[in-house]
Amino acid sequence: MRDFADRAAAAAKIAAANADEVDKAARFPREAFAAIRSRRLLAIMLPSAEGGESATVGEIAEICYLLGGACASSAMIFAMHQIQVACLLRHGGDDTWYGELKQRIAREQLLFAGSTTDAAGGGDIRSSTSAVAASAGQLELSKEAAVMSYGAEADGILVVTRRSAEGPPSDQVAVMLVKSDYSLEKTAEWDALGMRGTCSASYQLRARGGSCQILPAPFAAVHQMTMLPIAHILWSSVWLGIAADALERARRHARASGAGKGTGTGSRTTRDIGSIMILRAAVARAIERYERASPQELLSFGFQAEMNLLKVSVSDGAVQATHAALRSCGLAGYRNDTEFSVGRHLRDVCSAPLMIGNDRILAGASASAALLDLNARLFK
Ligand SMILES: Cc1cc2nc3c(=O)[nH]c(=O)nc-3n(C[C@H](O)[C@H](O)[C@H](O)COP(=O)(O)OP(=O)(O)OC[C@H]3O[C@@H](n4cnc5c(N)ncnc54)[C@H](O)[C@@H]3O)c2cc1C
Repeated sequence: MRDFADRAAAAAKIAAANADEVDKAARFPREAFAAIRSRRLLAIMLPSAEGGESATVGEIAEICYLLGGACASSAMIFAMHQIQVACLLRHGGDDTWYGELKQRIAREQLLFAGSTTDAAGGGDIRSSTSAVAASAGQLELSKEAAVMSYGAEADGILVVTRRSAEGPPSDQVAVMLVKSDYSLEKTAEWDALGMRGTCSASYQLRARGGSCQILPAPFAAVHQMTMLPIAHILWSSVWLGIAADALERARRHARASGAGKGTGTGSRTTRDIGSIMILRAAVARAIERYERASPQELLSFGFQAEMNLLKVSVSDGAVQATHAALRSCGLAGYRNDTEFSVGRHLRDVCSAPLMIGNDRILAGASASAALLDLNARLFK
């Protein structure tokens, strides 16, 4: 009997109780992560044989959604960690180093961060300026990590970088590092509009390790098969969780103020609840597609375009619904000190269209989107 929902609900309660404080101080949500760790939720995606609980992507997405409504920063950190674990799981290779790492993640409930963004490339994940140097079984790496969430709190980092200093920026690899492999020098603080508890500061990262820690698959495959779909599914779940909680506050406000006489809900809120239901169904379909897809399907243009468009639609839809919740709550939502406050929700969810910019995604996805057959059957 799997009790992820109960364990996640208990952690979400603690996350919610500390969310305002975390936001105000722009600090790591330590209470939430103590609760997540003590409920052993960090390694649930790993197979049972490796100390995990073989949780499905759908089960993880459900936890992201639940946490999203409680504390968006906690939810996003949880989602980002799971993305790194998913990459490790599918692409980690046979070296005993990876087997031991998975056992450690399960036993010690290690938390992993990800460093894709570098100083020059902005949101272009498929291009790196830094490069790893590997020889005689050892690696050396230095990277200006322009944005790295919870870097200082993490027990390890999955770093995306160029395969070699001589290679083109697009010939990338992913390198798995544990804390003892690297040092981080903070180069800029994270004082942002929202998602303040993710502590997404800038760092100079310097690392040494074994060359086996370079994932054997090219990063192009890691990104297409795992990082992109899992990120877009889990981030979407977080953003929908934020919007759903804001709409729930709007619904309660409408009931309390009698604005939605007869239905108990204002009409604007009702329409936006409808939009969120549709976006939730889109995420559920994406999860089903991901879990059933063969490696060839994962790499197909059609699948990549669908996952990209999911991210764009959900991020925009979640912002719109959260903004609608604010308008519905009026001043009670705008103030930071009422039970209907949605200011934090709105500030947090505003990160969604920027986290890999929607304009960048749309520009890159337009060629593959053109291949999508809109005349295909509705159900296939
Ligand atoms: C809360 C949060 C947490 C994050 N955590 C991490 C992390 O842990 N690790 C990490 O590596 N990164 C992280 N990031 C960074 C993130 O992954 C992106 O790299 C970053 O959001 C992109 O920043 P940018 O807008 O400056 O870059 P860009 O993508 O360069 O965009 C700059 C502007 O140009 C526009 N633009 C870009 N390309 C095009 C185009 N082709 N056509 C039209 N317009 C275009 C964009 O829309 C945007 O307005 C995080 C970001 C956020 C918001």
